[in-house]
Amino acid sequence: MDKLSPEQRHKNMAAIHSKNTKPEIIVRRYLFAHGFRFRLNHPRLPGHPDIVLRKYATCVFVNGCFWHGHDGCSAYRIPKTNTDFWTRKINRNKTRDAKTIHQLTALGWNCITIWECQLKPAIRQQTLNSLQQTLLQIYLHKTQPETSLLHLEPQPQKPFYNFDDTESVHLAAEE
Ligand SMILES: [Zn+2]
Repeated sequence: MDKLSPEQRHKNMAAIHSKNTKPEIIVRRYLFAHGFRFRLNHPRLPGHPDIVLRKYATCVFVNGCFWHGHDGCSAYRIPKTNTDFWTRKINRNKTRDAKTIHQLTALGWNCITIWECQLKPAIRQQTLNSLQQTLLQIYLHKTQPETSLLHLEPQPQKPFYNFDDTESVHLAAEE
């Protein structure tokens, strides 16, 4: 891997960083199969969260361990070449992630981050089960979420949320 030129590496990483990455699909499929409905990459929320569950006032981020700098994770190792470049880049990503979560929290959203390494086959089921449990806990305990979600109310003429249609399109596209 370290034999790649910075340009090649950047190209590879950009491809890995694209939308609809596999870990995200694992989470989406699980949630959908368990009856959760959500919106993807919400354009009007800070950070365009990967998965937005409005009913649960929750944004779920599925983070690649390298790109988002998962501290203490074996998948997060800054390459030995172009070390400064990668260190700066990943630190910028981490700062941006923290800011996004801060903004969303201030708007009344719960934020859940799932790391790619938590979706490895051996612990995947455990991770997804605890995600489901967390969402159900949030739902049981949330009070008056609408007051903090008013900025997301549908426009009068055009329904903003259309979970079923968008989701079936996305699922069909993944097959
Ligand atoms: Zn990790």
